[in-house]
Amino acid sequence: MFGAGISGISAAAVLQSHGAAVTLADGKDREHLKMSDGLREIDGKVELALGRQDEGLLAGKELLILSPGISIHHPLVAAANQRDIPVWSEVELASRLCQAPIIAVTGTNGKTTTTTLLGEMMKTTFAEVVVGGNIGVALSQEVQHVSGQGRVVAEISSFQLEGVHEFRPHIAVMLNLTPDHIDRHGSFEGYGATKQKLFARQTQQDFAVLNYDDEWIRAMAARISSRIFFFSRQSTLAAGAFVADGEIRLRWDGQELKICPVADMKLFGGHNVENALAACGAAYLAGVSPANMAKVLTSFTGVEHRIEPVATLNGVPYYNDSKATNPESSIKALEAFDGHIILIAGGRDKNTDLTEFMRLVRERVDRLILIGEAADRFEAAARQQGVTDIFRASSLAAAVEEARKKAVPPQVVLLSPACASYDMFDNYEQRGRVFKDLVHGGGQSA
Ligand code: ADP
Repeated sequence: MFGAGISGISAAAVLQSHGAAVTLADGKDREHLKMSDGLREIDGKVELALGRQDEGLLAGKELLILSPGISIHHPLVAAANQRDIPVWSEVELASRLCQAPIIAVTGTNGKTTTTTLLGEMMKTTFAEVVVGGNIGVALSQEVQHVSGQGRVVAEISSFQLEGVHEFRPHIAVMLNLTPDHIDRHGSFEGYGATKQKLFARQTQQDFAVLNYDDEWIRAMAARISSRIFFFSRQSTLAAGAFVADGEIRLRWDGQELKICPVADMKLFGGHNVENALAACGAAYLAGVSPANMAKVLTSFTGVEHRIEPVATLNGVPYYNDSKATNPESSIKALEAFDGHIILIAGGRDKNTDLTEFMRLVRERVDRLILIGEAADRFEAAARQQGVTDIFRASSLAAAVEEARKKAVPPQVVLLSPACASYDMFDNYEQRGRVFKDLVHGGGQSA
């Protein structure tokens, strides 16, 4: 097992419980690994090889399993290939241990939201539902708690798809495909080819739920052997999930089903309509009733740190969108509101193009509050697009303070940084939690 993060440690424990002789290795040594508690627990049960990533690790080994964070381009993988040692991703391991049908969700954006939403829908109908994957506890650990009568809803990143062989989800959802992670996959085509591995083992008994509005994904349908269920935010489909007369609808097997008005959904933004369409399609194919889908759609407020409602202070709602670590994500958040936004942005600059983002800032943002290392470049880009109301804050606390002083209804305050968090915080989760604490500490919530 290579990669001693949370998933790597729990996958190593699973392998060990099945009687395998396991070595858990990581290029980082113990001091630089964050999971010291987990490591202590597993120490002695498996062999630890920390601070090592040399070929010597492979001596006498039959299988190399990669933690979700490890790329297939790691030199250790090439060395394993040379020695004819099979290389699996952790998802491959999970799928081999899993008794229940798997619904897999992948795409560049929206995986966590769609997986969580779909999981809630599945829980209305199935007694045993496991929702997992990507980060946190390893999927291989979680699938052990579900029988063949249950269902598994798994978020799968492209990284994890690199090492799948027999993984065969019964329903596989592909949300979108944008040129992200290209550095890792070499090219957009390489990235797409990896994503397509999700469907490689599917047959006519299985389903692919695909975004009709994404040209690349639509074209991919011809290369998939399972039954295709399209979803579209833009077009009315002869078969699939779509929006008509402001309602989410499904057409399948000659039936048309009305789920609920888009306006009754608790999630914000057009991107979340896409996530909802995908979730409804998969839920329908899995046997969830339209009434149960509607119940979830009209109550599910989203996942933490993704346009998350925090509180309303003096009639002004505050939203935490700390997960927006690039301009594309922040654009989605800006598009989710009609305007009157007080935007807190900035952090560690990823040096991405800001033109489109700042154009939208000029259109929808009343006051731009900038924090972090990116503030200089962000301010210059904003001014270039004609944004004039800009405030530079020395900390997130100062930014919230400034927003609180100035905001009046019908304005909203939105933290959507368009930057990484590492200049001021451990990660985006901590940034979001600090923001929420500041908002809650800043006055009476109503
Ligand atoms: P992931 O797990 O793929 O990172 P999340 O559900 O955590 O996705 O959402 C992360 C961000 O991606 C959101 O804050 C939003 O800005 C953007 N996003 C979510 N869903 C979509 C979508 N369907 N299309 C485009 N962008 C999306």
